[in-house]
Amino acid sequence: MAVNYIYPEYEVVRNADRCIACRACERQCANQAHEYLAEAGRLVCDDAKCVNCHRCVSLCPTRALKIIKSGNTYKQNVNWRGRNIDELYRQAETGGVLLSGMGNPREYPVYFDKILLNASQVTNPSIDPLREPMETRVSLGAKPEKIKRNADGRIVNNLPPRISLSMPVMFSAMSYGSLSYNAHESLARAAEEMGILYNTGEGGLHEDFYRYGANTIVQVASGRFGVHPRYLNSGEAIEIKMGQGAKPGIGGHLPGAKIVGDVSGTRMIPEGSDAISPAPHHDIYSIEDLRQLVFSLKEATDYRKPIIVKIAAVHNVTAIASGIARSGADIIAIDGFRGGTGAAPTRIRDHVGIPIELALAGVDKRLRDEGIRDNVSIIAGGSIRSSADIVKAVALGADCVYIGTAALLALGCHLCRTCYAGKCNWGIATQVPELVKRLNPDMGHKRLVNLLTAWRHEIKEMMGGMGINSIESLKGNRLMLRGVGLNEKELEILGIKHAGEQ
Ligand code: SF4
Ligand code: SF4
Ligand code: SF4
Repeated sequence: MAVNYIYPEYEVVRNADRCIACRACERQCANQAHEYLAEAGRLVCDDAKCVNCHRCVSLCPTRALKIIKSGNTYKQNVNWRGRNIDELYRQAETGGVLLSGMGNPREYPVYFDKILLNASQVTNPSIDPLREPMETRVSLGAKPEKIKRNADGRIVNNLPPRISLSMPVMFSAMSYGSLSYNAHESLARAAEEMGILYNTGEGGLHEDFYRYGANTIVQVASGRFGVHPRYLNSGEAIEIKMGQGAKPGIGGHLPGAKIVGDVSGTRMIPEGSDAISPAPHHDIYSIEDLRQLVFSLKEATDYRKPIIVKIAAVHNVTAIASGIARSGADIIAIDGFRGGTGAAPTRIRDHVGIPIELALAGVDKRLRDEGIRDNVSIIAGGSIRSSADIVKAVALGADCVYIGTAALLALGCHLCRTCYAGKCNWGIATQVPELVKRLNPDMGHKRLVNLLTAWRHEIKEMMGGMGINSIESLKGNRLMLRGVGLNEKELEILGIKHAGEQ
C-alpha cells in the first residue's frame, strides 16, 4: 500500500450550494485537480494536485470555490517546522534538488517596509503635482567628466550613448521560453507605450519583436543563446548578465520540454535540448576579462549602445560594483535576493544573497566615496512592489528600478511559484498553446500600462509632498528617508537616520 508522507499544502473548498456544475474549474486547471463525477453529477478535487494559482477561483461564475491552507499539522516543534519536514520527505522520495519559481518568500526583513519618507510643511512648501510640472524622466549612462566646448564656445555633445526613460522603471530580464509569446508581446507593447524598456533575458529576441527594438534591452548571458550581430544592434542597450538575485553563483536551466517551436529557433538551439547557462561566463574571470567583453560588445555595435552589467546582490557587491564602474560599462544593475525567476534550486533561492536595499545603499556610497559614481548609472531590482519602493530606492541611490514579479502580477500571475513546471494556468510562464491563449496581449499590455500610469501619479505625489519637482533631485537624497525599528548597523549601511532624529 502506498504511503503518502506529505499531506497536501492547500485544500480546495467547494460550496455545494453555490456550485452549478458548469465544469469551468475542470477546464481551467492544467494540473487536472478537478474532476466531474458524471454519475453523481458533481465535482471533486484532488487537493494534492493544487498549486494554489487561483485560476479556478477567479473563473468560477458563482464564487463557489476558495483555496485554504491545509489545517493538517505536525506536532509542534520550533526547530522542525512543517515545511522542513515536507521538504525532507520530498527529497527522501525523489533524491532530487528541490526547485522553486519566483522570489525568496522567507521571513527575512523587508527593509523598504522599515523606511519612511519625508514630507514638507510650513517652511519648505510642498508642490501640487496636479498644478505644477513634475519631472519623472531619467537618463541612464555614464556622464562625461567635463563639459567640452568648441572654438565658438558651443557645447560639444560628448555624451556616451544613454537610455532615456519617461519614468525610473524598466521591465527586468525575463526570457522568451521561460515566458510565453503573449507575455513578451504584452511587455514589449507596454514598454513602447510608456516610453520605457523591456528586457529579452537570455533567450534571444523573437523575430516578431525586432520592431520594438527602441524599447528593448538585449541580454548577453553565459549561455549566449540567440546572440548575433543583428540581435546586438537591434536593442537600445545591451545587458551582460553576470548574476541574478534569485540564484547567485549558479547558472540557468530551461528544460528541453520548453525548447519547442519558435523558442528553439530564437535561442538557436535544437528542439527538445536543455538550455543550460553555465554558472560563470567561461571567458570572464576578472574585471579585465569583463572589460574585454564590454568593449567587444561596444565594438560590435559601433559604440552606439550603452552596456549594462547585471550582478546579484551578494556579500562583496560593493567591491564588484566598483570594478564594473571602472570596466567601461555604462550602467550597473543590482538584483536583490528577493528577485524572481522561472526556476531556481529552492536552497539557493532562499539562502543566498542579500537584500537589495542594503546592497544598493552600499554600492551608491562606495562609488561616491571613490569619486566614480558618475561613471555609471545604477538600476536596482529584486522585488520592487510599489511606487513607494521605487521612491525609496531612488533616495537610496538608484537611478532607476527593474520590475519583474510586479509586472507578472499585473498580467495575472498569482504567485503560485510553480513556473518551472511549464503549466502556468494564467498563460504567462508556459509554452502550451492552449494555456498561452489565456493571456490576451491587448489586455496584458493595457494592464501593465495602467499599473505604470498609476505608479507615475503616485511617484509625482510623493515627490510633490517632499517639495521635490524632479526625480533626479531625489537620487541618493537620504535626508528624505528615516528608518523605523532598525539597529545602528542597519542605519549605518543604509546611510539614513532613525525616525524621530532631525
Ligand atoms: S466553476 Fe464553480 S460553479 Fe462551475 S463547476 Fe466549478 S465550482 Fe462549480
Ligand atoms: S491549481 Fe489552480 S486551477 Fe487548479 S485547483 Fe488549484 S487553484 Fe484551482
Ligand atoms: S507566472 Fe504563472 S506559474 Fe509562475 S508564479 Fe505566476 S501564476 Fe504561477
